[in-house]
Amino acid sequence: MRPNELSPLFASADTLKGVGPHVLTLLKKALKLPPGVIQPRIIDLLWHLPTGIIDRRAEPTVVAAIPGTIATLKVRVLKHKAPPRGNNKAPYKIATEDETGRLDLIFFRAERSFIERQLPVGEERYVSGRVERYGETLQMAHPDYIVAPEARDDLPLLEPVYPLTGGLSGKVMLKAERQALGKAPAFAEWQDPAWLKQRGWPSFGEALKRLHHPDDAADVSLGSAPLQRLAYDELLANQLALAIVRESFKAQRGRPVSGNGRLRAKIEAALPFKLTNSQVSALKEIGDDMGSPRRMLRLLQGDVGSGKTVVALMAMATAVEAGAQAALMAPTEVLARQHAETIAPLADAAGLRLGLLTGREKGRARDELLNRLASGEIDILVGTHALFQDDVVFRDLAFAVIDEQHRFGVHQRLALQTKGGQGGANMLVMTATPIPRTLLMTHYGDLEVSRLNEKPAGRKPITTKQIPKASLEKLIARIKVQLAEGAQVYWVCPLIESSDVSDLAAAEERHAHLTQILGEGVGLLHGGMNATAKDATMAAFADGNLKVLVATTVIEVGVNVPNANIMVIEHAERFGLAQLHQLRGRVGRGSRESFCMLLYQEPLSKTAEQRLKMMEDTEDGFLIAEKDLELRGGGEVLGARQSGEAEFRVAGGVNFSEMLQAAHDDARLIYQADPDLLSERGQALRRLLYLFECDEAIRLFRAA
Ligand code: ADP
Ligand code: MG
Repeated sequence: MRPNELSPLFASADTLKGVGPHVLTLLKKALKLPPGVIQPRIIDLLWHLPTGIIDRRAEPTVVAAIPGTIATLKVRVLKHKAPPRGNNKAPYKIATEDETGRLDLIFFRAERSFIERQLPVGEERYVSGRVERYGETLQMAHPDYIVAPEARDDLPLLEPVYPLTGGLSGKVMLKAERQALGKAPAFAEWQDPAWLKQRGWPSFGEALKRLHHPDDAADVSLGSAPLQRLAYDELLANQLALAIVRESFKAQRGRPVSGNGRLRAKIEAALPFKLTNSQVSALKEIGDDMGSPRRMLRLLQGDVGSGKTVVALMAMATAVEAGAQAALMAPTEVLARQHAETIAPLADAAGLRLGLLTGREKGRARDELLNRLASGEIDILVGTHALFQDDVVFRDLAFAVIDEQHRFGVHQRLALQTKGGQGGANMLVMTATPIPRTLLMTHYGDLEVSRLNEKPAGRKPITTKQIPKASLEKLIARIKVQLAEGAQVYWVCPLIESSDVSDLAAAEERHAHLTQILGEGVGLLHGGMNATAKDATMAAFADGNLKVLVATTVIEVGVNVPNANIMVIEHAERFGLAQLHQLRGRVGRGSRESFCMLLYQEPLSKTAEQRLKMMEDTEDGFLIAEKDLELRGGGEVLGARQSGEAEFRVAGGVNFSEMLQAAHDDARLIYQADPDLLSERGQALRRLLYLFECDEAIRLFRAA
């Protein structure tokens, strides 16, 4: 249970003044919410930090005001000049003055009664905004602030600028933020005082205050002490939670599982190919882990197309040989179904009984499936996170595989690690994203890693080219020729900033356009489709009935259609390297020569240029991952943005690899000295864990 002193921070944001249902909806868009959180809370406002400030401290006389700058002026209202009736294009003008000169306030499409109330003739007001010269007169259009002299303190002379969203004004955000700040209690220090002193970092409360109530532009800049302090808090919470989860995971007795190779041999015999050396050694490592009495937690890293699925299947077969069950979890329904389909013939050949459970299995069919699972009539259960629902009970789960793990947020991952291994099940986590070392640490703490670093035999290189949007029609013409020769094309349309609707519109438009030129055989796949329609479209593409598949990024992970050999990515400049690499990995899986066309819109930013160049230069996932980290400055964890999850809330923008190492070591020391967090500092650290919502970790030592 979260301590009471923290409750105010976790109250819904609509308990604040000025935040009604409408503003709440806007806040939901503007704030990064952690996975599973539906309504913005006060704490989400606290983590939403300003990216700059507006300096309103200049308080010149009218004559001294510099056009083009922000100023705060004290003026007397002389006269209102409303636009003529029926002409709402003309502005509403208010003449004002001080002892040195005249200033016109200008309002377009203004609400008359509002202006009259705000600026009564004859009274004095502070107005703050951008001053502009218009012919002879000095004017200010739509002042940001209009306040009476007695309310001058309401005027933020240094106004923090928060990231906003359409329809949400800075003023409303500021008002909410100010109130949120007032709710933060004073906490006992959880950081080591010597460390704080060495870094010159303020206390937690002071850091929050200086970020939301800056005295200086430097306070909100990236390297500022208050921001670093909070980022370090977050990293420490993350590392400490991982240490706790990991240690308690290890402390649980595992169960040694070893098979006799009977089923694996059947699967291997049914494979149309030979396992690569790295597949063989990964299987050996996994087998050793499973056979040991320690509980297994291993990461299987392998580039897209490196053949992780068959490794997972054979490892699962080991569990079944030992008389137990296994589970395979994928991040999306499409992927879960595809896994089930690819595995089915091999499972059949070995006599393995397969079940599929996603959010779509309901009612009687679901009940029946669960019964078979509980009685042990299912050997391997494939599914989505639906696998972790409370009523899903295995007869004897000994081994769980989680695929494409990077799609899950840190906290979800913690939850899975705790729930996922009921009864000491061994866990294998598979990721297609080659995660650099530093990031592995934030994601998983220390864990064993197997890598698949060779591509299966027979893979051909993929030719990658960047193409300006202006050459679109030429590209389509070339594709038309290729299609006649049996090619198949993925055509990915971009994710447009924070709007699913326009994302979809772009894909629909391209779909119509391509259909017009290429004729029938162009399909459309997007996130808004229901599961049945999605499956049908994917199946039609896999069977070759569709030649071109226009898709939003739903195809991003794992989908396998070996005959598809051309990948077109529109607005490639908007994608991150990791994402581009993932997308490209959809092709080059069959015998045809493969291409990846990166269509870009000019002008390209420096980083975008480097990204596209990198894609042309190499197919090496690990190189790409390192470069990606370098270009992003490390803050944004791979794959986080595309799945809409905020991995780090504060540390996100900070270049943290150096701090991360420190946090990692710090967490280890803390854990060694005080594993149950019972000391005075330990108690304070519990608050920290709650603040960053690492509740899963706390639950672990509560139960112990
Ligand atoms: P990923 O690692 O991206 O999940 P998959 O497991 O989907 O890769 O494998 C991609 C394709 O490669 C599949 O069609 C699979 O059958 C094939 N494959 C896997 N291992 C080998 C191998 N050793 N030799 C040839 N093809 C293989
Ligand atoms: Mg896969």
